[in-house]
This record gives sequence, C-alpha cells and structure tokens, in this order.
Amino acid sequence: MAVGKGAPALRLDNVVKTYGAIRAIDGVSLLASAGEFIALLGPNGAGKTTLFQLLSGLFVPDSGRIEIMGHDMRRNPVPALAELGVVFQQPTLDLELTVTGNLLFHAGLHGIPRSIAKPRIEKELTRLGLAGRAHDKAAQLSGGNRRRLELARALLHEPRLLLMDEATVGLDPASRGDLLKLILSLRAERAVAVLLATHLCDEVPNADRVVVLNHGKVLADTTPAELVDRAGAATIEQAFLAMTGPQ
Ligand code: ATP
Repeated sequence: MAVGKGAPALRLDNVVKTYGAIRAIDGVSLLASAGEFIALLGPNGAGKTTLFQLLSGLFVPDSGRIEIMGHDMRRNPVPALAELGVVFQQPTLDLELTVTGNLLFHAGLHGIPRSIAKPRIEKELTRLGLAGRAHDKAAQLSGGNRRRLELARALLHEPRLLLMDEATVGLDPASRGDLLKLILSLRAERAVAVLLATHLCDEVPNADRVVVLNHGKVLADTTPAELVDRAGAATIEQAFLAMTGPQ
C-alpha cells in the first residue's frame, strides 16, 4: 500500500464508533483522492462531527481502519496528523492575539521554525486577502475574516487533507460564497483534498462528490448531478430529503 505522495489523501475502511447503544458511525468506508472536494452532507445527528473527531485523532474507532496519505491513524498517528488541517465547527482562534500571532502559535505547535513560518504566513495572508490585517487582533475581524484566518491556520503546515466542519455556519451569503471559492482554488492550486461537512445543500453543487450520511451510514457516494438524477429529484435538497426524510 502506497504511503505519502501517490497514496489516497483519505481512506476509511468499515469504520465503527459507538457511544453505548448509539452507533454514531456505523461501518463507513470512504476514499478521497488528491485534490478532490467532497461534500459530506447529513442532517443533525448524522455522525459528521463524530467522523471528524475520528479523523483528527480525538477518538479511536471501535473497529475499522483510517489512513491519511497512506499512514494508518492507529499505528502511525504522527505522520498521519501532519498531513491533516482542520477548520472546526466552533471558532478556536485566540481573539487576544493578532492575526500573525495566531498563525505563529500554530506554526510553533507544528514545529515549524519562525524563519520558515514568517514568509509562509505572509504568503497565506496575501492569498486569503488578509495581508492588511496582519497586526490586528483576531477580535477585530469580521466573522468571514475569522474563518479565513482559521483556514490560513489549517493550511500553514501544508497538509494534503483539509477537514471543514460546518465551516460556513453563521456567515452571510457573500462570505459563504467567498469561503467556497477559496476551497475550490485550493483544490486547483495545491491538490489538497477537502472534506466539507455541511447540512446546507447549496454548498454541494461545487463539490466533485457528495457523500450522504444518515444515522452513521453512507446512503450515497456519488457526484452531485448523479445524486439528483438517481432520486428523480429536481434539486439536491429534494434528493437529500427523499433519502433522509423530513428534518
Ligand atoms: P450536528 O450537525 O448536529 O453536529 P452530526 O452529524 O455532527 O450532528 P454527531 O454530533 O456526530 O452528528 O452525532 C452522531 C450521534 O452520536 C448522535 O446520535 C449524537 O447524539 C451521538 N453522540 C455524539 N457525541 C456523543 C457523545 N459524546 N456521547 C454520546 N452520544 C454522542
């Protein structure tokens, strides 16, 4: 099995995670290639957050196997996690630190020397349109710009897999659109695989694939257009509701 370059960005084989009687993740298998943008669509309680907690090593599956860039999460968590960037559902910036301060702190956690971190930070902030805000406190940023900063932070150690957990929640439509554009450019420019968990169907059409999760199981893993066709629906929302029932 390939490890590192050439390996799938993410591979899940029959992953199970239970909380007592609840099967939060119930035999999920999934493959993400380099540069693929996958929307993980599921209603509340479907298991999206639990899946991300397993992928980011916060919890260990009861059974099954997770590999990031070919590194087994159980046997080789350090190289696996080095390939992973995460934008969490809840904002996790230090609002008292400056924009650059937040990024330098993260670089330190990843063992990136300041001499490498500083030009990388400058480049990333320019790309994300935040260069003029480098010395502002994170508290002074709008919701949309805070999300951009979290994206910059998630990318600083140059991961090959980016997880975004409901990352657009609370943003106005323009900021949501901006963030989605940034995701698309990442796919094109850096071949970063992106797994975006969402319950918002209008975020799905831009994805290469959509994975529908409900009660911990994958109900569909296909292109957005196929999802609509197969359900004989007119929109992704209709297809989603037909599969998962009214929310
Ligand atoms: P949301 O969109 O509401 O965040 P989700 O798709 O992220 O939902 P999860 O939060 O992963 O779903 O929850 C999946 C299932 O596991 C739910 O039935 C939930 O109640 C249960 N669950 C999640 N975390 C725990 C926990 N720590 N202890 C017990 N049950 C849990």
